[in-house]
Amino acid sequence: MPLAAYTHLIRDVPDFPKPGIVFKDITPLLQDPAGFRAAILALAALVTPWRPDRVLGIESRGFLFASALAYALGSGMVIVRKPGKLPSNCVRQTYALEYGTDTLEMHADAIIPGQRIVVVDDVLATGGTAQATLDLVRSVGGHAVGAAFLIELGFLGGRQRLGDVPVGALLRY
Ligand code: AMP
Repeated sequence: MPLAAYTHLIRDVPDFPKPGIVFKDITPLLQDPAGFRAAILALAALVTPWRPDRVLGIESRGFLFASALAYALGSGMVIVRKPGKLPSNCVRQTYALEYGTDTLEMHADAIIPGQRIVVVDDVLATGGTAQATLDLVRSVGGHAVGAAFLIELGFLGGRQRLGDVPVGALLRY
């Protein structure tokens, strides 16, 4: 069945992690064999026209979808992590949050210049995380061919922030 049959498996959790945020909880979808499989197959159909060489997953929920997608496509996987987690030489990107800043890191040798990279995360909200990740990809010569999300929170305008890169999302709110 198409992913649309499984939207009840995305749970809204109000006021998490702080008041005013409605958190999109994807754990019921992960727990459902057919729903999780439908999500990965839909992501595969979404990104295949972009002809990625590697799937890049953003810590931590992005890993859940990116690694299964990379397996389904038969591509390798690149990971972007929070600071201090990766053991070898890193490139890093700091970006603005509502209050303060955050930083993401990637191994400097994770991408061969010219490789076609698709960025994957569970939720596109304001787009800051994905934008910083696209900057990391480009900083080492990668070719960012697309950004794919399970869920897009359209009212936050993240898509506009990502510029020219093709953006796809399976579910929009
Ligand atoms: P942003 O940088 O604002 O696009 O936020 C994206 C990151 O925050 C993603 O890694 C999401 O997992 C997480 N995120 C932001 N808003 C939500 C939300 N309402 N529900 C679940 N995850 C969210």
